Amino acid sequence: MKPPTESFDIQAFLALSQAAAEHPLMNHRTLWDNGFLVRLFDGPTTPGRADFHINQVPELFYQLAGTLDLRLWDGERFVDHCIGPGEVYSLPALVPHRNRRPEGSVGLVVHVTRTPEQTDAILWYCEACAEQHTATVLHRVDYSVNALRENLRTHIRAFLADSEQRTCGVCGTVASAEQGAM
Ligand SMILES: [Zn+2]
Repeated sequence: MKPPTESFDIQAFLALSQAAAEHPLMNHRTLWDNGFLVRLFDGPTTPGRADFHINQVPELFYQLAGTLDLRLWDGERFVDHCIGPGEVYSLPALVPHRNRRPEGSVGLVVHVTRTPEQTDAILWYCEACAEQHTATVLHRVDYSVNALRENLRTHIRAFLADSEQRTCGVCGTVASAEQGAM
């Protein structure tokens, strides 16, 4: 594989991004995918998006502007991290997490490049059970990471459209269908 011909000027990108009047929803831009998948993500995420993700590879977050609101399940409880500008966070593989990005935020995300056989998962937890520090999965889909965005959109729409997928098998709470379609 040939090495990149140029470096990427993040400060120039940030200046442009901050000058832009409109930020498209969850705009992301791939800088490289040559062993490390290196991407920039712009906020805002669709308000209320409740989907969590499980990746087969570790993930590094470097927040450049605004915050990244990261919720994860550490195996015993849900933990919230607010990662501010200039802060970095390393998420191990297989840790369920949810990212929310406010408007005007920009963050760099680095994954190890996944192989075509690797699958990620998108899943939803019951929020009523989460209040009791219990991780009850409402629905989970394992999918190929190719065409990530299309997959995500399809799975999120299917979840929101199906009240059975949104019903907790433990406490019976039905998750809202207004959880931020993409
Ligand atoms: Zn529940």
